[in-house]
Formats: sequence, structure tokens, C-alpha cells
Amino acid sequence: MISKEIIDEIVMRNDIEHLIGGYVSLRRAGGNMKGLCPFHSEKTPSFTVYPADNSFYCFGCGIGGDAITFIKKIEHLDYPDAVEFLAKRAGITIPDSQNAQYRTGPKIDKKRIYDMNVVAAKYFNANLFSNDPKAREALKYFTEKRGLSISTIKHFGLGFASDSFDAFSKYMLARGFTYDEMVAGFLCGKSEKGHYYDAFRNRVMFPIIDVSGNVIAFGGRVMDDSKPKYKNSSDTPVFKKSRNLFALNFAKNFAEESLILCEGYMDVIALHAAGFSNAIATLGTAITSEQARVLSRYTKRIIISYDADEAGQKAAKRAMQLLGEVGLEVSVLKIPDAKDPDEYIKKHGRDNFAHLLKNTKSKFEYNVEGVLGKYNLELPQDKINAIADIEKLISEVYSSAERDVYIHAIAKRLSVDPRSIKDDVERMVARKMREGRRAEEKRIKETTAGFSDRINPDYVKAPAIAKNEENVLGFLLLYPDKRKIVFADKLLCADDFYTEFNKRVFSFIESAHLSGDDSSDWLNENFTPEEVGRIMKMKINRMAFSSADDAVLYDSIDSLKRSVQKKEAIKTSTFEGLDAILKRKRDS
Ligand SMILES: [Zn+2]
Repeated sequence: MISKEIIDEIVMRNDIEHLIGGYVSLRRAGGNMKGLCPFHSEKTPSFTVYPADNSFYCFGCGIGGDAITFIKKIEHLDYPDAVEFLAKRAGITIPDSQNAQYRTGPKIDKKRIYDMNVVAAKYFNANLFSNDPKAREALKYFTEKRGLSISTIKHFGLGFASDSFDAFSKYMLARGFTYDEMVAGFLCGKSEKGHYYDAFRNRVMFPIIDVSGNVIAFGGRVMDDSKPKYKNSSDTPVFKKSRNLFALNFAKNFAEESLILCEGYMDVIALHAAGFSNAIATLGTAITSEQARVLSRYTKRIIISYDADEAGQKAAKRAMQLLGEVGLEVSVLKIPDAKDPDEYIKKHGRDNFAHLLKNTKSKFEYNVEGVLGKYNLELPQDKINAIADIEKLISEVYSSAERDVYIHAIAKRLSVDPRSIKDDVERMVARKMREGRRAEEKRIKETTAGFSDRINPDYVKAPAIAKNEENVLGFLLLYPDKRKIVFADKLLCADDFYTEFNKRVFSFIESAHLSGDDSSDWLNENFTPEEVGRIMKMKINRMAFSSADDAVLYDSIDSLKRSVQKKEAIKTSTFEGLDAILKRKRDS
């Protein structure tokens, strides 16, 4: 175990305002800070940071907790890794002895996987230059078919996986890696009969490297038309497909102005080779909101360069939306007379491509063009429809100043009165806000009031009791001196709780208290960020009442016991006993 002192120091030294401010843009609201929640999509901020007690809570999706909860959730780390992440950030060294003890168990060692991936990448790369006739074909694929130079191949560490079921794994076994490690790292598969086989066979190989320079995964491409064209590592202990991007390790150093988002590895490599070192790609999937958030840390502007075909343009639209939601400026590159950037540069040269990049269309312009292309503006009805479609697009723009600019530009272009467009747009915006608020309220109700309650499934069976339980727990969480009273006099025990979740929370509070620990370090170790959020909410609800009078607590406990007992139809004798205790308490 990492000692409590170290955990406390780690949490204390990671000022929550600064920590979260690195991910979310926060504005002051009274003594607290507010911002748009990074965990659910929203237009009005319900994500609140409480600097006074180093905590946060989102009133929209119910996630909340402290610095550790936040990092667990946003960086997708488990508890020990989140603690390590924050320790590093604060410059605290966790003694090795504590760390090692902490990491015993069946978990595959991440460092072993990182090491294994480096050995594998070197193996695939050396293999590409071997005398194997198939390897020579692979090298030709890169140099002749794709026109890559040897230095580009080396820069990206490209490689070749032999057409064999065990050549790779035999090599790795000889270097001390186990089948279990290879399976965990997605380099080997295991058949139902228990036979192991190399995951990548007869494919050119692209190592995927994270921004810290670790080899985290591989992509493999066939050289002919067989299927699947690309095979990518699935998620492993060191790799999450939904949050990493190809070549970001290089592009991050050239990202100040913009990043070019491409569809495939080969597009990215061709662009880097032509001097556009800010090109990146997703890993064989459509872009996710997590990736969008990662990108927003490195740049302010994304140029989408997807294939010109219908599928590519559809994907571009979706990407525009996701990237826009995290506040990135987005524009779309249209490549005339070629199917992708690679082909265009080969035909027209890099200077012309640079010129295209300079003249990309903003997301708004791109969409407006789409609308105008659909209609014949000479026809009155078509023009009316076009205006309605464009008004809808303008109403989706977040900033009202930006909306004004577009309203005037469009009014001029279609020769109509800007005031009439403005009226329509403002009406749409107002309606959208109303609808948004209603949807948000509904969601809050559903997540907090027990309707399809994922965190406390028993809630819906007995909402009144569960509310009472939360009320009592709120007291215990908020006031250490109340814990003393409750536990010393055994006013409550775990069996007095009806819902399993609340029972679990109570048990943790109790055992922490009995072991003399009045901190809430047990939270992140034993509960998911969603659960921690729910527990936070109990505290926040309690804070809303100014009264911390003992009598209120006794009444809550009393009614909890009554309601639970009523529910379970237990004889009233026990709570007569409680009444006596409570009476004594009040009288004394
Ligand atoms: Zn939220």
C-alpha cells in the first residue's frame, strides 16, 4: 500500500483548480469555478470545481470527487496509476517498496509490454530489410508503389511481419517474453484449442508511438487487395485505440498553428515526407470525442483531409462536429483532381498542396456550400428553403458575435434583409436552449432519482428509503464528529441499510472510522468515478442545509430505521430500543 501520508500529500500538492484547468476552461462563479463538463456533452456549464475542499462535481452527469477521481476518469487510469500520475505531476517520488507491494497480483506488468513492443518493432523493421522474398516485396511496396525513401521508412520505423504463424513468437520467446505477455500485448492470438499464433502475418507494419515515445501498438496492412486491409492492435494494458493518434508523437512539435487530420497511415507518412510534419490519423476508426479532447491540448485548429468519396465526406462531417464541441477551430481540405493528399502531391507538388492548405474552408463555409449546392437560387421556393437551412446552420454556432458575422455575410450573398435572418436565428437559438435545458433536467432526474439508476439499482425499488439513507450518509461524510457519535453508540449498522450501494458506502465509512482514519482516502481506491460522484452528491446535498444539529441527524437515523423496518416488515421492538437511546441523548 502507498501510505496515507503520501496520498494526502499528492492530493494536497495537486491544486484542483490548476489540475482541472489544464483540461477544462474554468470561469469563476462565486467562490467556485464552473466549466463545460469533459465527461458529457453540454452547452451550459454544470461542471463545478470547489477549490475550498479540493473537489469537483458535475450536476449534469453526476461525476465528482477529488483530484484522483478526476485523473482516473479523464486519463482512463486505474487507482494506482492515477496516484502515480499525480505524484509525477507534483514531483513526489513514491518509494519503490510501497509501489512494488501495491502492484502484486495477476496484473500484466505494463513495463514488460512496453519493452516487448520495442523489441517487436525492431524485429519487424529488421525483417523488412531481410532476404526473405516476401520481405523484399514489402520493401518494394513502400519504396516503389508508395514512393517512400529509406529515411522515411526508418523515421517511422516501418516493418514487415513474415507470412508465418510462429516466426515472430519464436523470436520473442527466445528473448524471454512469454505467450501471456504477447497475448496481452495483442502480438499473439490463442486459438480455442489453446494454440498460440502470430497476430500479424504477411503485412507491412506501422508501429504506433505515444507522445512520450513508447511503442504502444501496431497497425498492419496487406500489400494486395485481400481483406481486412488494415489490422490494428485491440486495446491492451498500454493502448487505448479511442484516445491515441498515429504520428502525434512527431506532429505535436509542429502543432502550434494547426494539425492535419488524415484518414490513413499512408496519407500521414506521405505528408510528413513532403514536409508537412503536422499530419496525424486515427487508428482505423472514426475520430472519438476523447481523441478530439487530446488534440485540443496540442493545437487550436484542425484541418480535416479525408478522402473525397462519399464515405470520407460523411466521416468529415462527424469529425467536424466532435472537434467543434471541444472548442477547436475546424476546416476542411478539398483536394481537386486527386483522391488523397498523397496522390495530389505526387501530381502537383508540395507548394500547390501548401496553397490548398491555406485556402481551406471553415466548417461553416463548408456546410453553407453544401446547402447552396442543393438548390437553384433563381427559384423563389428554393431560395426560401436555402435560407431556412442556412439559418439552422447559423443557429448552431455557439458565439453570438460569430452568428452576427455569418448573418451579414449570408444576407449580402443572397440579397435579403439581415434583420429578418437575425430574428429567425435568435428564435431558433432560444428554442434550442429551452430544449437543451429540458433534456438536461430530464437526464439529471434519470441519473439521480433512481430511474434506470446504474449506480444504485436498488434505489428505484424504494426511493424514499434510499433518500433517507443518502441523507444519513451525507451527515457521516460531512461531519467527523457525527461519525464518533453514531459509531460509539452503535446507532446504526450496515444491516440497517436497504440498498446495497449505500450499505457498501456505510461499511467503508465505518471501517475507516474504526481504524482511526477520518480522511476519505478509501473512496477512489474502492469506488468508480461515477460512484464517487454519487457519494459527493450526498455530501453536497447535506451542505445545502445549514443545520448540523444532532437532533436532525437522530431524526434521519430514526426515520431510516423505521422505513427500512417497515419495508422488511420486521417487528417494532428494535426501534423502540432506538427511541429510548435517542431520548436519552436528547435529554442529556
Ligand atoms: Zn458531466
